[in-house]
Amino acid sequence: MRVFKFGGASVKDAAGIKNVQHVLQTVGYEDVLLVVSAMGKTTNALELVIKHYFDKSAELNAAVQEVKKYHNQILLDLFEDENNAVFTAVNEQFADLEYFLAHNKSPNYNFVYDQVVSYGELISTTILSHYMNFMGMATQWLDVRNFVKTDANYRDAEVDWELTQANISKNVKRKTLNITQGFLGSDPNNFTTTLGREGSDYTAAIFAYCLNAESVTIWKDVPGVMNADPRYFENASLLNQISYREAIELAFYGATVIHPKTLQPLQKKEIPLYVKSFINPLLQGTSVSKGVDLEPYLPCFIVKRNQLLISLSSIDFSFIMEENISEIFALFHQFKIKVNLIQNSAISFSVCVEDKFDNFNALNAILSKKFKVDFEENVTLYTIRHFNDSAAQTVEANKTVLLKQVSRETMQVVTKEV
Ligand code: ADP
Ligand code: ASP
Ligand code: MG
Repeated sequence: MRVFKFGGASVKDAAGIKNVQHVLQTVGYEDVLLVVSAMGKTTNALELVIKHYFDKSAELNAAVQEVKKYHNQILLDLFEDENNAVFTAVNEQFADLEYFLAHNKSPNYNFVYDQVVSYGELISTTILSHYMNFMGMATQWLDVRNFVKTDANYRDAEVDWELTQANISKNVKRKTLNITQGFLGSDPNNFTTTLGREGSDYTAAIFAYCLNAESVTIWKDVPGVMNADPRYFENASLLNQISYREAIELAFYGATVIHPKTLQPLQKKEIPLYVKSFINPLLQGTSVSKGVDLEPYLPCFIVKRNQLLISLSSIDFSFIMEENISEIFALFHQFKIKVNLIQNSAISFSVCVEDKFDNFNALNAILSKKFKVDFEENVTLYTIRHFNDSAAQTVEANKTVLLKQVSRETMQVVTKEV
């Protein structure tokens, strides 16, 4: 069985959905499990709904209507006949969402977040599945929440592999076209959970692992994994073949083309990962598999924007040592702040972090009691794997370099635009 994943960009409008159907016709779909994300920027649009909900804003209803209108236009473009059952099915999902917003009593932001954003994937897979049927391709629509079981850590749930494996082995049918949602799971009480933003690639890997799939293909709007994000770097070139190790490194440092959690389950069972273009499905793309990387390495550029550079120094000139550092890290963990780079000297300690959940102010209040805290917001972290002089010059040109760290294969630079 093969596992395919189609992300938001591939299903952002009716033409995109027609193209997915065309890709499946081209590459075959008989023994396939399809993992699909929310359409286009729907997850962001639902985040706005959640914001208005908690702000008790009068704009809540308008935000919901916006999401509805977007999907409705796609439905009208795909299905001429408004009596097609898909209209009722999608309307029912929106009615469920509105019912939740009207009746929910939980003040837990992360819980509410997961219950609401999940409609993005539930609706996209409903539309896709109906469209495939309409085009004569029989599908099995699976509610991923009956398969991927997680803990109750909303917005960043951890997979319970044992239960998930049992559900998938027992209940996923082979020799058919299965369609399911990326990014979602459910907790022990069957409430919806999510695996972290951009988590649909990971869902594909979870199914592939549990099904012992022959391969995973993630279909993207780029030709494959390139040596830089082509949005920011002209002349980015395709990497035809890379090892799991190199892919994990690239994803870990922030090459967003593959979600970092995707590689580990695949590597464990040596399931190859193909990253291919949904625009040209017959092109080779990138193959990620066991083995040695093809030499020579091209320098690979990875950019993380919107970082926060924090420097802690001791107030009384004492050293920052193991005890302090472990305490500081425990706090980062507690406040869900992700550390992307660490550098320390005798009396100071610098970290470049990502504060996805907006917790830095609360953390700073605690840290400031013990340390002198300096921070610089909105900095950029560049990572160059397999760097050379000219690669380093490219990223440092016209910028203020705030911090730099060099190891054998990797150079990292924190910069501020001037
Ligand atoms: P999806 O639709 O599956 O969510 P994403 O938008 O998350 O797809 O990932 C594809 C995007 O990743 C590309 O449009 C590209 O801008 C970006 N990207 C970042 N780094 C790389 C890289 N090294 N190679 C190719 N694309 C990259
Ligand atoms: N829809 C989710 C997101 O935008 C998951 C994904 O696309 O992978 O984060
Ligand atoms: Mg994405």
